[in-house]
Amino acid sequence: MKTRYLILILCVFVILTGCTGLRSTPGALQFRVGAASAPVTPPVGTFLAGYDSNRRSTGVHDDLYAKAVVFDDGTSPVAVVVVDCVGLQYPTVNAMRALAASKTTEVTLPAERIIITSTHTHCGPDVIGLWGPDSAQSGYDTAYMDQLVQTTADQVARAAANLQPARIVCAETQCSGWAVNDSEPGEVDHTVSVLQCLDQNGKSIATLTNFACHPTVLDGDTTVASSDWVGAFYGAMAAALPGEHLFLQGAIGGWIQPVTPERTFALAEKYGKDLADKTLTALKSATAVKEPNVKFANRPFVMPVANEAFKQMSALKLIPRPMRDGAETEVAWFSIGPAQFATHPGESAPVFSNQTKALMDTGPKFVLGLGFDELGYIIKPAFFQNSTIPHSEYLTSMSPGPDAGPKMMEALEAIVP
Ligand SMILES: [Zn+2]
Repeated sequence: MKTRYLILILCVFVILTGCTGLRSTPGALQFRVGAASAPVTPPVGTFLAGYDSNRRSTGVHDDLYAKAVVFDDGTSPVAVVVVDCVGLQYPTVNAMRALAASKTTEVTLPAERIIITSTHTHCGPDVIGLWGPDSAQSGYDTAYMDQLVQTTADQVARAAANLQPARIVCAETQCSGWAVNDSEPGEVDHTVSVLQCLDQNGKSIATLTNFACHPTVLDGDTTVASSDWVGAFYGAMAAALPGEHLFLQGAIGGWIQPVTPERTFALAEKYGKDLADKTLTALKSATAVKEPNVKFANRPFVMPVANEAFKQMSALKLIPRPMRDGAETEVAWFSIGPAQFATHPGESAPVFSNQTKALMDTGPKFVLGLGFDELGYIIKPAFFQNSTIPHSEYLTSMSPGPDAGPKMMEALEAIVP
């Protein structure tokens, strides 16, 4: 009788303490983060994207990467991925998401919760098809692209397999001086938003840095693979902190470019290091995120395409996607504690970044350009009506059309709570 009584007390004790220890509260110990990366540098001879056709890679200055971070709050994991390339197309992104979801075993990670972005380097592979031997032939290399899809999907699965208890800190700073708006000089957002994931010993697992500027210090004379100043940013971050470092490109349309008195790797190095220095300084006074619970919403939609050249390129199969009257694409919004993220499916103008940030009620705020897609320039309707805006002729020629911005904002307004 006495023994039974003791066992009962012991059971009650175990249940009570067990419940306290294992309950899925969104506290620091239950939240987990994993990260992984691998090079995706294309072989010599690959067509490089950006600038003129028929620009083939002759070597490597710095490796290109696919990098992934998985955030798991115990109920609703989400993955953030960045690939060093000019801009992945939506069908490629969906192939990556489906494969990544099927390869991920550590957590249940639905394909839709895998957010894939591109840095927009102009010294990376032609992942769209526009820069082949000439304007009539695609530069899209199916063998390389298959490998890119596999490697990128693998990084999501590896990041999930690496999940470990983590805490999150956030910081925000400014980086001005070399990113300018070449079309509307007054409209430029120099905000740098940073999220860092730390393990239980305070060691960095991953940093995510969001800033808007074309990685185009190097010009069309460069024939070696590089992620431009983003590569220098990666190098400077890696010299200071362990773990993975993801650069999340911001809203660069309309037209946010680096100041380029020279087109050299030395200048790219200077800019990348400057952004890293500012990021690292901001992290010294970062704010801890107390409850890093994850929320997520996405919205596939059809982007209206008025650009006849886009439709022709699609019809000629220069680009690997249908685009008759519109292009299927998607936006997503997610939050990790107070930090909020929204995606834009192309190179959006700062005005849309500002409008997107205005939808968010807490911060820091991350606007991810080239999110899920590269549909070209998403610019103000005014660019189509007033050709006196500098570069408006070029920008409108590489834009889906005047309805792109409003349509994208309509989709975001429907999902940002
Ligand atoms: Zn661009």
